[in-house]
Amino acid sequence: MKKVFFITILFLKLNIFANEHVVYGSNPDLPTVAIFTTGGTISEKKDPKTGLLVPADIINFIKTIPNITDIAHLKIIQFSNIDSSQMTPNIWFELSQSVDKVLKDRKIAGAVIVHGTDTMSEGAFFLDITLKTDKPVVFTGAMRAASDPYPDGPFNVYNAVCQVCSKNALNWGVTVTLNQYINSARDVEKINTTNPQAFTSGEKGYLGYIFNNKVFRINNRLYRQKFSLSKNLPKVDLYTDYSGARPEILRYIVDSGAEGIVIESLGSGNVNAELYDVIQYAIKKGVIIVITSIVPQGGVFPIYGTKGGGQTLEKLGVIFSNFVRGDKARILLMIAMSNVGKDIEKLSDIFKNP
Ligand code: ASP
Repeated sequence: MKKVFFITILFLKLNIFANEHVVYGSNPDLPTVAIFTTGGTISEKKDPKTGLLVPADIINFIKTIPNITDIAHLKIIQFSNIDSSQMTPNIWFELSQSVDKVLKDRKIAGAVIVHGTDTMSEGAFFLDITLKTDKPVVFTGAMRAASDPYPDGPFNVYNAVCQVCSKNALNWGVTVTLNQYINSARDVEKINTTNPQAFTSGEKGYLGYIFNNKVFRINNRLYRQKFSLSKNLPKVDLYTDYSGARPEILRYIVDSGAEGIVIESLGSGNVNAELYDVIQYAIKKGVIIVITSIVPQGGVFPIYGTKGGGQTLEKLGVIFSNFVRGDKARILLMIAMSNVGKDIEKLSDIFKNP
């Protein structure tokens, strides 16, 4: 029995690295960069029969990036090969653990995470608040597929590797770096469905810019929170408000077992009177409610006093997310609750900082 247990553990350990490939550049003095590939458009190719994009060999995609082994040794780890619409917090949990494990190796300078762009900002933020390592970790991907005549993916990975190797790009936490721009995982949002300039940090500003293998520091902004990683992630849902919103939908989320709900409310933090009643009901049931906004910039503030206005919600005991946007607030609430449970004061403190 003991033997079977031992062999299973050994297999599991090996299995994590089963797809590992190591590529050495010609110069042994170059830094080593770990590249975790998870999938996404970046390595996808058009199926000649259907004309539709499908996953292709992602390891080969990395190996064929022009000049990449001139700047670093690469340790390529195929973590998964999926479209990021299939990503889940549980998968990011595994990714976070694997990245920390690999970056314990003193010879490795940092990691590049190749990820689909659809949920990249959420995944990057999940790792930003859960990774133990202080080494640079850079998420990148592409808006155009590997089979596109003008793909953006190879240059994005090349620049991400440059960033990991640069002394000018330290202490930024996890970043999302595409189209030469470096964004902090906390602030970044995808703002375009098809254009290579798809990511921005809005009013918070880019952290930096990469040109000719050099990192230019634009912004020293660094607000990072750290939590321990727990496998028991609570059920936290995201609800988007709109004019004339039907209260039954939010009520359904409450009754279906949500432990926390992030509400992308209107304007600076307001909902209609019917939603107010459901929020009151949710709070009585012990559901944690965090208020964010559907508006892409600016924070949420409890300044309106009619039923459903921000101040009336505050009186019910909701948490205002400050400047954290809905998708990130959901990740933050989930991880925070897995650390401090439903302690409303501690949860409010976590959302106090912009
Ligand atoms: N649907 C793709 C994904 O998120 C889009 C991309 O990678 O840009 O995986």
